[in-house]
Amino acid sequence: MADFSLNEDQVQIQKWIHGFAEDVIRPAAHEWDEREEFPYPIVEEAAKIGLYGWEFLMNAFADPTALTLPVAVEELFWGDAGIGMAIMGSALAAAGISGNGTPEQVMEWVPQCYGDASKVQLGAFCVSEPDAGSDVSNLRTRAVYDEANDEWVLNGTKAWITNGGIADVHVVVAAVDPELKGRGQASFVVPPGTKGLSQGQKYLKHGIRASHTAEVVLDDVRIPGRCLLGGKEKLDAKLARAREMGHSGEKQPAMATFEATRPTVGAQALGIARAAYEYALDYAKERKAFGKPIVMHQAIAFKLANMATEIDAARLLIWRAAWLSRNGGFTNGEGSMSKYKASEVAVRVTEDAIQILGGYGYTREYPVERWHRDAKIHTIFEGTSEIQQLVIARAISGMRIE
Ligand SMILES: Cc1cc2nc3c(=O)[nH]c(=O)nc-3n(C[C@H](O)[C@H](O)[C@H](O)COP(=O)(O)OP(=O)(O)OC[C@H]3O[C@@H](n4cnc5c(N)ncnc54)[C@H](O)[C@@H]3O)c2cc1C
Repeated sequence: MADFSLNEDQVQIQKWIHGFAEDVIRPAAHEWDEREEFPYPIVEEAAKIGLYGWEFLMNAFADPTALTLPVAVEELFWGDAGIGMAIMGSALAAAGISGNGTPEQVMEWVPQCYGDASKVQLGAFCVSEPDAGSDVSNLRTRAVYDEANDEWVLNGTKAWITNGGIADVHVVVAAVDPELKGRGQASFVVPPGTKGLSQGQKYLKHGIRASHTAEVVLDDVRIPGRCLLGGKEKLDAKLARAREMGHSGEKQPAMATFEATRPTVGAQALGIARAAYEYALDYAKERKAFGKPIVMHQAIAFKLANMATEIDAARLLIWRAAWLSRNGGFTNGEGSMSKYKASEVAVRVTEDAIQILGGYGYTREYPVERWHRDAKIHTIFEGTSEIQQLVIARAISGMRIE
């Protein structure tokens, strides 16, 4: 992998999304951040041009270099992270279905996570619970099989769910055999309009406020047997193996999804960092203090030099991780490295951008304080920075570090 150039398709996609981010997303960002509501009109615009849609996602998944998705996501989040997350949120559900479902289930449910330009639909991926965020092996949500009716019955409460309760398709990870911890879990599709699924509290957040985050309450939710992702036979075999051997060697369903999506989450953070860096650089060339543009003061210039260096380092880790995810797999926690580095860089760079803008940077009239708030979530969701460090530490040492 010595070639860092993007192919023609990737360059086209990059330009296309950048144009949408610049013309449609950025001008709307402040308003939706203040409103703290899901930005349906913008997502509908994205659907009209084919940016919000399962075909786009599937095309990106099919890219053998795997760089298309991080390149696209960087541009999207350069536009705005809250709106970007509103556009990308359904992809988590789609990835959960693609990662665990049969080809028939993928064809049936992934398109329903998106709908079409005439009727936009949403997907939600529901793993976290009030008492199980990082520790996803400890899920309390139960799935019980009702053999007589060939139905699964789900009960529990999910916390912090992107698109939770407003989604059409909810993908729910639940414990089938709690004693087996993560190896006793399975993923289920809850189809649109299923009785017993409701939205709990909607969280009011520090950042990415255009993205909807809420509890999902599952109260005797009955779903047909065919909604078990991967099918019953596969689950029974997995559970039997896990019971026999004490461990199955298979990855937990939730973990498998997160691992594959980590470089993309890193790319989200990268887009925010780049937005803040570019803005701060322009500002530093214009703003004068002590008779010269502040960029002529070394303290500011060096800050910008570090921002540029860190952003490039993060991008290289993301591209490497994306490439490895399709070409050979991770050996040293490279997926986690990319998400960890990019998230921390985004928090640091956006904070430095506020510093460079001085008092103006601290006000809501300028976007950098929003970017700082938006950046922070990336050190928390889809595995906190500490959990990424844990994954990397285990990978490099081969030891069970707790
Ligand atoms: C805006 C937003 C959107 C989200 N979207 C979704 C979604 O769509 N679907 C979904 O399922 N979840 C979602 N989440 C949940 C998110 O993934 C969890 O919040 C995250 O995994 C952390 O879990 P927790 O909040 O329970 O923190 P905890 O697990 O309680 O962690 C608290 C602190 O302890 C540290 N910690 C925990 N265990 C260890 C350890 N072993 N070693 C070292 N440090 C440790 C953590 O790093 C953290 O600093 C979302 C969260 C937010 C805020």
